[in-house]
Amino acid sequence: MSVFKKIIDREIPADIVFEDELCLAFRDINPQAPAHILVIPKKEIVSLIDLTDEDEQIVGRCVLVATKIAAKEGLSAGYRLIVNCGDDGGQEVPHLHFHLMGGRKLTWPPG
Ligand code: C5P
Repeated sequence: MSVFKKIIDREIPADIVFEDELCLAFRDINPQAPAHILVIPKKEIVSLIDLTDEDEQIVGRCVLVATKIAAKEGLSAGYRLIVNCGDDGGQEVPHLHFHLMGGRKLTWPPG
């Protein structure tokens, strides 16, 4: 069971900022920007590679939730929504998650 499933099940603590029937959002434990929030589906989807057509609503909701949290966090100057996918993408936790990052000028390209 991934660490994020344990957060969904409240087996380990997290600073949760949003929850509905499809998604959960919480502050990253090791923030890389003043605002760094992870939005995850409650369904156990490992990565983008594993998405199927039936996940369309879930993924759409996660993205929409991220935009609402960005507004609530006051990120009107902009932000980044990132998905690391698989080994080459730098994914460490095997549960799909969207990194919402903002509150500073972000550089490009990532490493
Ligand atoms: O995309 P990637 O899998 O590398 O990102 C995992 C993220 O999950 C990291 O930013 C890490 O800080 C975060 N994390 C967390 N809470 C945990 C375990 C990991 O916020 N309990």
